Amino acid sequence: MTIFSNSRTLQAHDRARRGFLGTGLALGTAGLIMWPEARLLAQQVGDFIEGAPMPDIAPIQLSKHVWTIFAADGFPTQENHGMMSNVTFVVTSAGVVVLDSGSSVQIGRMAIRMIKKVTPLPVIAVFNTHVHGDHWLGNHAFAEAYGEQLPIHALAGTMKEIQGYEGSLWRSLMERWTNQATAGTKVVPPNTEVKHGQTMQFGDITLKLHFYGKAHTSADLCVQVVQDKVTAVGDIAMANRIANIDDGSYPGTFKYFKELAVAAGDQLWLPGHGEARHDLLETYGKFLAGIWEPCLQAIKDGKSEAQAKVMVLADPRVASRATTMQGFDSNIGKYTSLAYLEAEKEAF
Ligand SMILES: [Zn+2]
Repeated sequence: MTIFSNSRTLQAHDRARRGFLGTGLALGTAGLIMWPEARLLAQQVGDFIEGAPMPDIAPIQLSKHVWTIFAADGFPTQENHGMMSNVTFVVTSAGVVVLDSGSSVQIGRMAIRMIKKVTPLPVIAVFNTHVHGDHWLGNHAFAEAYGEQLPIHALAGTMKEIQGYEGSLWRSLMERWTNQATAGTKVVPPNTEVKHGQTMQFGDITLKLHFYGKAHTSADLCVQVVQDKVTAVGDIAMANRIANIDDGSYPGTFKYFKELAVAAGDQLWLPGHGEARHDLLETYGKFLAGIWEPCLQAIKDGKSEAQAKVMVLADPRVASRATTMQGFDSNIGKYTSLAYLEAEKEAF
């Protein structure tokens, strides 16, 4: 299989790669040309070897029914085995529901070991919040343990992308970023489509599903655990990490936050990256507004992108997060450019 067989895929690869690694570790054009052969070799080897097991991370109980296996790091490395996003599970009277399955088969298997420490009940459903591989590559482990008929739910847009080239792309990228620590992971796409507004009953627990248009990606699912007032929001908001917005929209995110907050009311908002907070949408929304509003103002005043960047970095909503936010230095320039481009479209 040739993965990078067309220019669209190459662009997507480049886009996603830059998303995590910034410019510091970017390969030159020569590196990209070498890549398909290296990839093929790694795949052939990967048929025989797997990355080492993921060490245990004790789950944390967030509410009566909701537990999370917390990822301390925001970005994938060989040392962290790609453990960069939270794996959450809901223990219902009918079985366990998993909200995002982790970045690899190894992480998924670790999550299953942790679930078994909490309850003897089997996993009966998985949800994938969006297309980015750190949220669904662990599906492999759940299908392996509970059978291929295990329902893996996602929005139509997410299903289609994972079934298509984005699925293979994310698997390759994760192997590369972790120096093969995730090798052996297979793409197991979601098999059950869900829609905005749907409620689903699992034993004593009701899940309400939300989707309000393009935010972090074109299809971001939020899952509200109704009885516990906990809502898993995927990557539409992050606690202390700057979110990849390559596939997303600033005004789309603000709209999404508003409609979600109205629909769900006060919740413990649980992001894919970082800790759950009641004020997550406010704090992350404020940070994003600190990027977006100066860019919109710069466009209105006929200022250049470079001038807009100066305004963004001086904005107290951004400046106050600069020293502590994971990924800030490597990504703020690019995400300001994306805000400026989107503001240009918005203004005219
Ligand atoms: Zn994401």
